Amino acid sequence: MKVNKAEIVISAVSPKQYPQDRLSEIALAGRSNVGKSSFINRLIHRKNLARTSSKPGKTQTLNFYRINEKFYFVDVPGYGYAKVSKKEREKWGKMMEEYFALRDTLKLATLIIDIRHKPTDDDVMMYEFLKHYQLPVLVVATKLDKIPKNKKSAHLEQVIQTLDLDPEDTVIPFSSETGEGKEDVWHYLEQYL
Ligand code: GDP
Repeated sequence: MKVNKAEIVISAVSPKQYPQDRLSEIALAGRSNVGKSSFINRLIHRKNLARTSSKPGKTQTLNFYRINEKFYFVDVPGYGYAKVSKKEREKWGKMMEEYFALRDTLKLATLIIDIRHKPTDDDVMMYEFLKHYQLPVLVVATKLDKIPKNKKSAHLEQVIQTLDLDPEDTVIPFSSETGEGKEDVWHYLEQYL
């Protein structure tokens, strides 16, 4: 897809702030620092629309990016920071549930993981959370440029096994550094738009 227009519409903390225009949504989830902002920026050809490396302690929001006035990417707050307090974790959980349980314009979730490592317990939990809401999930295994080419299939296999990937779901290797995988990702996303 050629992105002509990408704009942040709202950073929402509660459902009443979500956009009301009924466009389809694709959620983007991933561990803090996994490379989620770099993924979005690479996909939509913007240097810095999605802020990179959001740190804990900052207000956690659902960021709605309207793309080509056709659909939304919904950047959901990262998880897996050891340092966040119990209160912050509870707030995060409530925000995630409110969105994923009730949002009928949500068509697909994209889960960003790091291809270099076995998915963490937090990654597995996030995948299971998304499947609990019966969402189709595209797993994007990013930082592909950081592993040798001949190790790619072994790493992908480890992702599939560790997540116990549902047969209806797919994992696509990706690099925000080189752009590899970008066409495959767009092709996959377009099926849901
Ligand atoms: P976020 O917290 O998930 O939004 O992560 P960021 O997008 O800020 O990325 C975290 C760090 O990983 C940054 O230093 C990025 O430059 C780096 N990074 C992200 N994606 C890639 C990638 O595909 N390849 C390489 N080599 N580095 C990446």
